[in-house]
Amino acid sequence: MIDPFGRHITYLRVSVTDRCDFRCVYCMAEDMTFLPKAEVLSLEELERLCSAFIRRGVRKLRLTGGEPLVRKNVMSLIRGLGRHLDSGALDELTLTTNGSQLARYARELADVGVKRVNVSVDTLDKDKFRQITRWGDLDQVMRGLDAAQDAGLHVKINAVALRGVNDTEFEPLIRWSHGRGMDLVFIEVMPMGELGGDARLDQYLPLSMVRAGIAQHFTLTDSDYRTGGPARYFTVGETGGRLGFITPLTHNFCESCNRVRLTCTGTLYMCLGQEDAADLRAPLRASESDELLDKAITEAIARKPKGHDFIIDRRHTAPAVRRHMSVTGG
Ligand code: SAM
Ligand code: SF4
Repeated sequence: MIDPFGRHITYLRVSVTDRCDFRCVYCMAEDMTFLPKAEVLSLEELERLCSAFIRRGVRKLRLTGGEPLVRKNVMSLIRGLGRHLDSGALDELTLTTNGSQLARYARELADVGVKRVNVSVDTLDKDKFRQITRWGDLDQVMRGLDAAQDAGLHVKINAVALRGVNDTEFEPLIRWSHGRGMDLVFIEVMPMGELGGDARLDQYLPLSMVRAGIAQHFTLTDSDYRTGGPARYFTVGETGGRLGFITPLTHNFCESCNRVRLTCTGTLYMCLGQEDAADLRAPLRASESDELLDKAITEAIARKPKGHDFIIDRRHTAPAVRRHMSVTGG
């Protein structure tokens, strides 16, 4: 699949549920209304959709959410998708998780062929973790991380940089993750979904500033390491570990975008930061053959926009898109 700007679409991110056992302050409002179950695709339908994308050239698939591991029977989907790893049609099957259920699932994930997981940890302080996630328990996540590493999964930690919340913790987060052999990626907060008031402006911390601060304590060397995602990586001289930055606001990376995103209702977003979307549920359900679905996918890819228009400043406090991050997944 090649879009109008010549970009090869080889990476599909799938939000398998919009539900979550946490309520992170930058991701969700406290009182979220979730999708009625009737609108959500069955796991079999999701597998059929993913398989159609794999047949069309997707080589990397990431499950996300909401929290992917709170979806009932999610392992049956992951096992089904694992078959594409065995056949060689898929290079990588991975997931982004808050880690709360990893202690239970890590071994099974590794058995199916998952090699890497991204786990979101914004702070190492238990009270602050509870404040950020509203409902989360850091000890539970730590047990999940232990289980993941015991099972041989390579772990990358995602941390959203939040002004006045975790901005004194970047150095400890680097030492902790690299000390455990985990990569660390800092993410700029993105204006997705209404949080109320100026919450987003209050949270936003440009990563250019974060990087300058980190460079005062550590030696950062440019690295050509890539995972197929948007992070730009550095090697930290003092720890030997890898540190990435995802900077949708301060450095737009859309020119090399290889991704599209599917929600649990079968809606395809061709860009995380735009409203335009294609409904794949109707063609999926209209026929048992994939002909209509293939046509809808082709039409959607032909509409992939050049990029997002994220801005956060005093004049732009409204979200760039109405949906919360938990709808499309990170
Ligand atoms: N529940 C899983 C988790 O937390 O890792 C997967 C879904 S979550 C939406 C995926 C990633 O998006 C997480 O690393 C989270 O920190 C990040 N995220 C959520 N809302 C965001 C926002 N408004 N701006 C930037 N990153 C965000
Ligand atoms: Fe849930 Fe992940 Fe959003 Fe936090 S960031 S509320 S864990 S979906």
